[in-house]
Amino acid sequence: MNRNKFIKITGLTLAGLSILPHFSYTSLQPEFTRDQLIGKDESDIVGDSYTTKMHRDAAIAFQKMKLEAAKVNIDIELVSAYRSFQRQKEIFEAKYKKYTGQGLAPIDAIKKIIEYSTMPGTSRHHWGTDIDIIDGNAKPRPKNVLQPELFHGEGPFCKIKDWLTENANSFGFYEVYTNDANRKGFKYEPWHFSYAPVSKPMLIEYKKLDVKKILQQEKILGSEHFTDAFIAQYRKENILDINAELL
Ligand SMILES: [Zn+2]
Repeated sequence: MNRNKFIKITGLTLAGLSILPHFSYTSLQPEFTRDQLIGKDESDIVGDSYTTKMHRDAAIAFQKMKLEAAKVNIDIELVSAYRSFQRQKEIFEAKYKKYTGQGLAPIDAIKKIIEYSTMPGTSRHHWGTDIDIIDGNAKPRPKNVLQPELFHGEGPFCKIKDWLTENANSFGFYEVYTNDANRKGFKYEPWHFSYAPVSKPMLIEYKKLDVKKILQQEKILGSEHFTDAFIAQYRKENILDINAELL
């Protein structure tokens, strides 16, 4: 082989390798580590701030969606995207200390926390595929932006809600906690969307993990009070009772 031909082939091989990580999430067998699934490995996460960190594939799709929405004067603004295990642990444990300090029994404190927050290691925000979004152009801007009623009736986020209903799926984003009276687990969240091409294979892998073991291995405050029955119900309702398009 002459030198020119060798350089050409090497170049092609490198080009092939550089697209492999992308394919591994879509057409090839997906591979995610335990640490990626619980927010302890940021190797596929891009972005530099709390509100913009995202899985690299989700970030590309998000930018495309944002540009499209801008054409009709909607500014898709991230309220929250990737969240690390450590951050979720801090949120959970602060609430656990507060509620048990007020006299609640440990298991009741945990049940109260999971009305609005996930247990560390179980948040879809750990994957970098899930985002909480509002319209930055909405006026007047509410103080507390993540309230379902703001997305309905005469609410300031009706415009973005209608636009997302019409367009989000074509960019790969799906609502997770839908407005379905029969759904259990987390309440309706019209602001929470998930990038399905990555989050669907991630959920398949996540289902293989032993959630109780992880919570105990990671020494989460209060984790000695998790019973098998409690974890089984949490898995069934909070993790799996979501938009069927994401299962
Ligand atoms: Zn969310």
